[in-house]
Amino acid sequence: MNLKNFPYDISITIAVLALAAVALPLLHPSGYVVTVLSLIGMYAIALKGLDFVTGYAGEVSVGHAALFGLGAYAAGWMNLHAGLPLALAFPLALGTGALAAWLISFPLLRVNGPFLVLTTFAFGRIVYVFLSQTTEVTGGQSGMQLEPQTLFGVSLGAWHFYYLILACLALALWTAQRIVQSRTGRAFEALRDSPIATDCMGIGTAGHKQLAFVLSGAFGGLAGLLYVYSQGVLFPDTFGFETSLMFLMAALFGGKKSSTGCLLGAAFVVVFPDVLGSHFAFRSFAIGTLAVLAAVGALRLRRRGPAGLKAMAVPLAFALGLVALAYGVEDLNEYRLAIYGAIVLMVVSYLGNGIIGLLPAYVPGHKSVAPEAGSGIRRAAPAKQEPLLEVRDVTMAFGGFQAMSEVSFSVQSGTVMGLIGPNGAGKSTTMNVLTALYHPTAGSVLFDGVPLADVGTTRIATLGISRTFQNLQVFGDLSVLDNVLAGMHHTIDAGSNARAMALLGTVGLAGQAHALAKNLSYGQQRFLEIARALATNPRLLLLDEPAAGLRGADLAALKQLIGEIRGHGIAIVLIEHHMDVVMELSDHITVLNFGQVLARGSAQQIQCNRAVQDAYLGA
Ligand code: ADP
Ligand code: MG
Repeated sequence: MNLKNFPYDISITIAVLALAAVALPLLHPSGYVVTVLSLIGMYAIALKGLDFVTGYAGEVSVGHAALFGLGAYAAGWMNLHAGLPLALAFPLALGTGALAAWLISFPLLRVNGPFLVLTTFAFGRIVYVFLSQTTEVTGGQSGMQLEPQTLFGVSLGAWHFYYLILACLALALWTAQRIVQSRTGRAFEALRDSPIATDCMGIGTAGHKQLAFVLSGAFGGLAGLLYVYSQGVLFPDTFGFETSLMFLMAALFGGKKSSTGCLLGAAFVVVFPDVLGSHFAFRSFAIGTLAVLAAVGALRLRRRGPAGLKAMAVPLAFALGLVALAYGVEDLNEYRLAIYGAIVLMVVSYLGNGIIGLLPAYVPGHKSVAPEAGSGIRRAAPAKQEPLLEVRDVTMAFGGFQAMSEVSFSVQSGTVMGLIGPNGAGKSTTMNVLTALYHPTAGSVLFDGVPLADVGTTRIATLGISRTFQNLQVFGDLSVLDNVLAGMHHTIDAGSNARAMALLGTVGLAGQAHALAKNLSYGQQRFLEIARALATNPRLLLLDEPAAGLRGADLAALKQLIGEIRGHGIAIVLIEHHMDVVMELSDHITVLNFGQVLARGSAQQIQCNRAVQDAYLGA
């Protein structure tokens, strides 16, 4: 399920907020309920911030509580020492969170995967030590206590803060929704699914990753401000590693990329410690969980037989374990971390989309956008000088091994150059050099007179070079349409949807526009990559084995498509093993072997070349 398209998400969120705003005062709840709901509201803001990083950009942070804490302490410090009004605390807390996140994003950009998680952990520890040890600034372990607050002369109580939090929550969720539905949100998801394609489409992985962290910092800072003002006291332990883990767990538990998920996750974080604190509540929770899972198990047994029940064995054992804990253990708080850990394991293994993913999946009706007239392919701007592409004596060495040695060739606008050769000859390496993913050890590449040496991968697309990948690099969790729109990142406007639909029609994928890209067949994904590459308005298109895995009608369609692209004045470098495709379409062919140019010439010359026959074509 694509949660971005989860149709009830925003409706549920609005309903919950409206209920919280209007119905609650009528119920005359206790101060405890108001406090709990206030906490849920501010945690939901912090979680929405974390969602930019985890849900959208796909990174795992175990230091989010530090951003929350920095916002809280900045606002608290300002209140105590600077004596400035409450309103000024907003820019300060948001700014502190954002600034800290921006600073930590630099080391984060240098690492990936487990090392990135470790970096966020280190950041969290540093902030925790700062908060707990710099006693003169933060009050250290004895904490920070604020005076009662006033705004415009009115002294503020729990209800005032409750409404302040609700208003901030509504604004935060609305802002987040605006961002994730914009091209920026699409960029976050693109970099999550394929950093390399994100860079090659000119979107830029690094900048957007940084932006996701900065947004998470600003949201965390805002939540921190609301925390300090509504609670009145701060202790460093509130912002330690355990809280960061709780945030992460809540994000998983509620569900990624969803406002409802944030509310659910926040409710879980706030309420669950109280559940653990009361035997009655925890027993109810354990028995309730067991009852629900048993019901699901029974249903599956009826529908799918013993196999259906078998898949439920572990969750059922987990629920039984909870019941055993609930009745067998005196002080549950001592088992707190183990229980959290077990819940995380369960959620990760069995609820990939969180609680929100349990709601009935339903593919919403999409407004169908009419494609613009024509193919959607734009005519290439004419080259200032021919040849458009000139590769001069390029050597690309990895350690002592030369994947390319002194390779030279050139490509004219509106022509196809076939680049062929046995596996490992250096063809894909050539493409990586042409998209500045690799910087040649020696030699130079000129694109319309511009040396690529000074150009980064992200600028390649704006220059007019676009590509597809031998190892498919579609943005899997984006829709097919969004994949093409991602290619228009820098030129996006009101007409982009119509043009994207035209491009999808041209590659034969109009009917799949709203499917997730990962659900397409490999062949369809190859065509999607071509449409996405065309969306950037290239003057040079690099196709790395576009026919791999294609058969029959698809091959014919591909040949026709490449011809049509050439007809728009676009130069094409075509790497391909299907010799009929290469020989039919190529105006020129360059043959690589062991990183060296073995031969150049027309299709006919290459077919007759003895050296090429020996090395590659065979008899
Ligand atoms: P192909 O012609 O099949 O596309 P490649 O260009 O992918 O060949 O690879 C050419 C050679 O360069 C291979 O031996 C490959 O292992 C090596 N190679 C490619 N990229 C790297 C890299 N980043 N580091 C080390 N070796 C590489
Ligand atoms: Mg290759």
